Amino acid sequence: MPEIQTRAPSLTLDANTPAPPVKYVYDFSEGNKDLKELLGGKGANLAEMTRLGLPVPPGFTITTEACRAYLRTGAEPPELRDEVSAHLASLEATMGKRLGTGADPLLVSVRSGAKFSMPGMMDTVLNIGLSDESVDALARQSGNERFAWDSYRRLIQMFGKTVLGVDGDLFEDRIEELKRAVGAATDVELTAGHLRELVADFKRIVREQTGRDFPQEPREQMDLAIQAVFDSWNGDRARLYRRQERIPNDLGTAVNICAMVFGNLGPDSGTGVAFTRDPAGGHQGVYGDYLCNAQGEDVVAGIRNTVPLAELEALDKTSYDQLMSIMETLENHYRDLCDIEFTIERGKLWMLQTRVGKRTAAAAFRIATQLADQGLISEAEALQRVTGAQLAQLMFPRFDNGADATGAATHLATGLAASPGAAVGRAVFSSEAAVAWAGRGERVILVRRETNPDDLDGMLAAEGILTSRGGKTSHAAVVARGMGKTCVCGAEALEVDTKARRLSLTDRNGDAVVIGEGDLISIDGSSGKVYAGEVPVVPSEVVEYFEGGVDPLAPDTDDLVRAVHRIMTFADNVRRLRVRANADTAEDAARARRFGAEGIGLCRTEHMFLGERRELVEHLILAGTDEERAAALTALLPLQRADFTEIFEAMDGLPVTVRLLDPPLHEFLPDLTELSVRVALNDATPGTDPDTADTDHRLLAAVQRLHEQNPMLGLRGVRLGLVIPGLFSMQVRAIGEAAADRREAGGDPRAEIMIPLVGTVQELELVRDEAEQIIASIERERGVSLAITLGTMIELPRAALTAGQIAESADFFSFGTNDLTQTVWGFSRDDVEGSFFSAYLEKGVFGVSPFETIDVDGVGALVRAAVRAGRATRPDLKLGVCGEHGGDPYSVHFFHEAGLDYVSCSPFRIPVARLEAGRAAAD
Ligand code: ADP
Ligand code: MG
Ligand code: MG
Repeated sequence: MPEIQTRAPSLTLDANTPAPPVKYVYDFSEGNKDLKELLGGKGANLAEMTRLGLPVPPGFTITTEACRAYLRTGAEPPELRDEVSAHLASLEATMGKRLGTGADPLLVSVRSGAKFSMPGMMDTVLNIGLSDESVDALARQSGNERFAWDSYRRLIQMFGKTVLGVDGDLFEDRIEELKRAVGAATDVELTAGHLRELVADFKRIVREQTGRDFPQEPREQMDLAIQAVFDSWNGDRARLYRRQERIPNDLGTAVNICAMVFGNLGPDSGTGVAFTRDPAGGHQGVYGDYLCNAQGEDVVAGIRNTVPLAELEALDKTSYDQLMSIMETLENHYRDLCDIEFTIERGKLWMLQTRVGKRTAAAAFRIATQLADQGLISEAEALQRVTGAQLAQLMFPRFDNGADATGAATHLATGLAASPGAAVGRAVFSSEAAVAWAGRGERVILVRRETNPDDLDGMLAAEGILTSRGGKTSHAAVVARGMGKTCVCGAEALEVDTKARRLSLTDRNGDAVVIGEGDLISIDGSSGKVYAGEVPVVPSEVVEYFEGGVDPLAPDTDDLVRAVHRIMTFADNVRRLRVRANADTAEDAARARRFGAEGIGLCRTEHMFLGERRELVEHLILAGTDEERAAALTALLPLQRADFTEIFEAMDGLPVTVRLLDPPLHEFLPDLTELSVRVALNDATPGTDPDTADTDHRLLAAVQRLHEQNPMLGLRGVRLGLVIPGLFSMQVRAIGEAAADRREAGGDPRAEIMIPLVGTVQELELVRDEAEQIIASIERERGVSLAITLGTMIELPRAALTAGQIAESADFFSFGTNDLTQTVWGFSRDDVEGSFFSAYLEKGVFGVSPFETIDVDGVGALVRAAVRAGRATRPDLKLGVCGEHGGDPYSVHFFHEAGLDYVSCSPFRIPVARLEAGRAAAD
């Protein structure tokens, strides 16, 4: 009888068993779309299309793991070369050709492709395998000499630029020079002879610039290109993009080697890009660009103008129909908008790439709901297809499209509506200028003939992007959509002169119009219109909907509003986190409520001490006797009470957390320097009213006494309450009486009193005891029950660390993540954001400011610990967050996961927080 195994087999390999070999190379037929981590997005999707039986040229993918090994050690892993050789041999066998050799040489492309599509990675090199020898073979085999030399010059150009690091302009300038010399308007007009001449020139440029000849050995070309892809992972542009998009630095990129197919073989060939739906608006239809007799990059580069994809039907109906059917297959398979790169070689369609496509915010909402309607995705998936950042974008104002709404601005030209939104800014003509002007706090519009990856910094700095060339799939359009920036491209009427830093055009009257650097322009990414001057903007209809001004179910309501409504409704149904507002006034409270706030998480009382009330505060601070102090407080009481009454009314039936006075007192007093000057003048001026002079002297003394080196860590919050007798009591009384008034008026006030900056439970107990007595006495006097709860902010590390003790005296915690971030890191937000933060972001110490997105590892760890300890003491402890982070999408997911009950944020961010709380729960 076989022995029955009672223990799992040991996992330790004995010393003689070799470790399983790592597999560094996958044939396209071996992968699938779920292997993005390993094969990169491009490789995984090429594999998926291969599996689906779509016409993909054969090839193989070198894994991200090989790249990581290379980046770790600085050398390719030793097994890689052999594995590549084996896959190359099998590719050669499949194709019946040898790489760069023989009468019908095999050519390949070497293409980078990380898990996330990333601008800044190495550009693809096409036509690898061509050399002085194989170019002749290709010419003979194709019967097209022009094509062979065109392909060869492209190889030297792309290889020279991206692999050998030669300045690309040297090649471009040479092409322009030649075109001018022979009178050719476009590159298609260059003959085989011209291209042969260019090849000789390009080889010379490579030799001059790199000190070596362009490599003639096909395998060497391929290996150098593979290595260059690995190296490009750490290029500046790639790093900048990863930081911006929070993509981890250690993923590495895959490399795809793909047999070439040729779109530049003549008029029955071409190349294009297509979308299964409109990535700008989200509607269904035929969207894409096609370029006849061209290879790969020509479409995206915007070098020649493309024709709309629909025109392909007339050019090549068979390929067009096949493409439409493939697009349907892909969309049903991926269950999402796909974008596609294809090439037609002498009437045969080839698929070169697909991926789930980038889209604008409006398209994201529309497409998600369309797909849900089609039954392709569930409501929960639809919710995951949109983000809070996209919703925020839809809440930005847009240009008024009404007839006379352009104000003083004049319509200059119309380009293509590439990425929606309204942008107004100063025209700048280079990435550097964009960064420089934006650095001075100016809004800028980056104006270029066409953009390329070197413009990334400028695009990031700009409000919007305007180009005079290129289609809706040009670099500018694609990147702008990805960044959520407004973009108008291909505004051909504009003559953009980047050297002279201006754009010019001839207007309808035949007059020349010139816009120089720094002039205000406006661009409308939804209509493609470009204006000189500033166009007035109108609020978004999505905001109007949130404000309650649009009925989302009315038949004539924009489908965008309907989509937003549907997704928000679903998010509200599934989310666990409640969403409250930070609001200090009744108007803010009312607005927040319309936006869906379920209470106020932070009502600051500071502003109630400003304006005309400053004088009363001065009396309070200057009071020499208990009577004087009591008089000042008595005067403040009714004012505070009225404030609270209004807010409780606006938030009737919902909780309102009122924070007792937090900032240091000197903030309510005159500025030290100003006051010193005033006192000196008083003293020097005979006849000054002695009372005024005396008050000023006493004020100055108080300001000096209260002056702190480090007010953030000084006399503020609960400390103020404990050293200024009667201050907190007055506030508590105002809250209690306001609640009693509301109750008597038939309302339902739900007051929560919050004590700021508590570091130890003793502070809280002192305030709490007094507050409870006051509330009890109001309840007795007025004969009502107020059910006011008392809690604290957790905004000091000590509070978080002793949360178990503090919870004994608190009904609720609200994490004050702004102060908590300051105190955990030991830096003051007011001081550091303008000083070393940019350097820290630059050096990658943080991917993003910890004031913007919660620092999960540090601040977040304290939040988690305090949640655990607090709930251990008091299982029904209510937990919320009221820092800026409450409206930050990424942070909302953290707070959901940390088990908080609610987040609180500024009124405008509430829809974003609701949506993200829904996404966190449905995830
Ligand atoms: P990117 O990531 O910049 O889109 P790709 O690797 O997709 O780079 O390639 C750039 C261009 O070259 C695309 O238009 C693509 O379709 C084209 N291309 C890539 N490989 C081939 C190939 N084997 N044959 C023909 N065209 C190709
Ligand atoms: Mg591509
Ligand atoms: Mg605080």
